[in-house]
Parts: sequence; C-alpha cells; structure tokens
Amino acid sequence: MSGQNLSEVYALIDKAENNLVRLCQELIRFPTINPPGNDYKVCVEYIGNRLKNIGFNIEYIHARGTPGDCAEYPRYNVVCRYETGRKGPCVHFNSHIDVVETGEGWSHDPFAAELIDGKIYGRGACDMKGGLAASIIAVEALIASGIELKGAIEISGTADEESGGLGGVAYLAEKGYFSKERVDHVIIPEPLNVDRVCLGHRGVWWGEIKTHGRIAHGSMPFLGDCAIRHMGAVVASFEDILYPAMAARLTKMPVVPEEAKQSTLNINSIHGGQEESNQGLPTPCVADSCRMIFDRRFLVEEELTLVKGEITDILANLKETREGFRYEIRDIMEVIPSMTDINAPVVRVTAAAIEKILGKKAEFICSPGTYDQKHIDRIGHLKDCIAYGPGILELAHQPDEYVVVEDMLNSAKVMATAAYNLLMEQE
Ligand SMILES: [Zn+2]
Repeated sequence: MSGQNLSEVYALIDKAENNLVRLCQELIRFPTINPPGNDYKVCVEYIGNRLKNIGFNIEYIHARGTPGDCAEYPRYNVVCRYETGRKGPCVHFNSHIDVVETGEGWSHDPFAAELIDGKIYGRGACDMKGGLAASIIAVEALIASGIELKGAIEISGTADEESGGLGGVAYLAEKGYFSKERVDHVIIPEPLNVDRVCLGHRGVWWGEIKTHGRIAHGSMPFLGDCAIRHMGAVVASFEDILYPAMAARLTKMPVVPEEAKQSTLNINSIHGGQEESNQGLPTPCVADSCRMIFDRRFLVEEELTLVKGEITDILANLKETREGFRYEIRDIMEVIPSMTDINAPVVRVTAAAIEKILGKKAEFICSPGTYDQKHIDRIGHLKDCIAYGPGILELAHQPDEYVVVEDMLNSAKVMATAAYNLLMEQE
C-alpha cells in the first residue's frame, strides 16, 4: 500500500528537478567558508524562510561564545520542525552549512554553482549542500503529496562541522535539540555515495609530544643533548613497535577505504631546534627542544585508554633505556568511535529504500574520519543515526567538487521513502 502512495511523492520529486537545481545553486552561492565561518546567518535564514512557507516552525539558534563566534562571524544554526498533528516519531535531517576553503586548482568559479552536463560545480556542492537540497526537496514532496503522515519532521542547517561542530550540532545537542524527548531518527546527508549507508566513524586522538635537550655549540654536540635525536628515537620506536601492532589490528567496522579498516597514526608535523629566522641562516646550536603533532585514528574495538597507553608506554620505556630522554605529552582532541547497529530502524529502512529506488543492495560503510554523528551519539544519546546523501565521498574538499543532479533526485526519493516508513512504522 505504501508503495502505491509513494509513487505520487516520486512524481513530485521528478517534477521538482529544476527547483532542486536552483535550490542547490542558491545554497552554494552563500560562501559559507569555515574558518572563519562566513555568511552563516544569511544562509540559515534562506533555509528558514523557505520552510516557513510550507508550515514549518523555525528556530534560529546563535551558538554564543563557541569557538570562532564573534560579531563578524556569528555561529548561527536553524532548526525547522513540521508537526503533522498526529502522534508519532520525529525524523530529523541534519546538514552542515559550512564549507572548507576553496584552495587552488579550480576550473570553475567555486561559488557560481554552474550546471554543466547534469552536474553542479562549486565548493560545498558535494559536501554537503547537494545533500541538504535533496533532503529539503524530499520533505517538501512528502508534505505536498497530501499523503497521511504521523509525528514530526525536522530539518536543520548547522554551523562549524568542518571545524569540529562545537558551534553547531554539539551546541544544539547540549541545548536538547538532539535528544530522545524530541527526535527519534537522524539522517545526515553527508557525501558517502547515493547507494551507501554510513553507520558511523572511527575515533580520533590528536596529541603533541615534546622532547627536551640541552643547547650547546654545534661544533661540540657532545657537550649538549640533541632533542631531535630523542624525537628520532620516538619515531624509531613507532616504526618498530606501534606500526606493526596497529597493522595487525583490523576492525569489524565496514570502514572505507579498505586501508582505513586498521588503526592508523599520522605524524602531522615535527619541529625541532632553533628557527632559521635570520634569512634562513641556521644557528650553530644543538637543538634543545623538539615537538611532534600526531593524529591517531582508532577502531570501535579499541579503548581510548589503551590507545593512549600504547604511546605513553613507548615514551616511558625510552625514559628508562635512553640516556637523557625527557619528554612531555599533551592531548589536543579526542573523539570516541561511533557506530549505529546494523539492525537499527534508520539503517534497515534506508537500506530498503536504496534497494527500492536504485534497484541494488545498499552497501554499509563507516567513515575513516569523523562528522557530527559523534555529538548526536555522545551528547544527545541518540543511537538511531546514519549518514546518507548524494555526494561522492572522494570529491569532498577537492577542487572542482560537484554533485550529480540525478544522484540528488535519487537520494531525495530514498530519503522520502525512509522518512515515510520511519514515521508510519508501528512501535
Ligand atoms: Zn561534510
């Protein structure tokens, strides 16, 4: 019976193709680059005004005092809620409105949103204004079809995902917008390909290690103690102990790409010794300090305390065995892995919708990096959350990023089907 009903919704989505293209283009034309967090207010007002016209209640939430919030770049979010008037659950579509810097290498104006051969080009087309536009069109079609709906539908446009989400979803979750009291199911239309359901992401531990030495004349290094050589010993121990241990550890999380199914450690940077400030002339000194920034990504099977212990053990061991080895270690950021159960309602229903619309089995994946699901899970305690959207994962943050119009139409149908079935499902 639902299939019969939904054919009208699909027809409305197909009819809305030009509308969808225009909506996506207009969203891209707000250069919401973060940092610094440009044009958030006008962008969320554009979303709010559109949805107000079809009966949504609109709330603008200024995340005052969050990182980067200032008079010039206020952190604005919008939460739009549509009440059907009948008792039932709430399905929430969450999209971040911020985009990363454009960078070099574009052959299209990154904020012109040109439509060429069925693709819309621009910064944020893929990540993730195309997904936001598709979710809006999906919900508009559901409502316009006159099909009986239960419960409530929410659409949010949120700030700062690209810089950690503190002025966006984290703030909203702390204020109760993502909580069991008001939301049951969450779909985040991040770019993870139109036929894949993303269950969650790996964890993150960013840290800094400092080694200390003693300054001396470079011609007599034996009179000093080189902090860079101590850091070299740290790197050597990582190579000997840590990398092989991580390589042996595979997750049951379906992370893509394949190489990200294991724990990873990136050494982001190492800075040691005196700066070559005087026209590049080095000072003839032994390095008395060295600093490393690392980025450890870990798996749902690993505990953060053990992940940390693995590195602190290496450092403690060097202190025992290596003469003069002195160090400090400092946390910069940590995120616990998040993975929604494969049998959770939003997973099951979205996978079925993909199969119905695209005629192929949905693929279940996890993201190598994190996104706002972490806040919805950890702060909001909402476990029924996935990422699903039309963008192509590999294009995110690249020059000439684009979204395929046909993928937006298909994902809109998938999102409408999933939302309908989640709202109408018997408890
Ligand atoms: Zn994104």
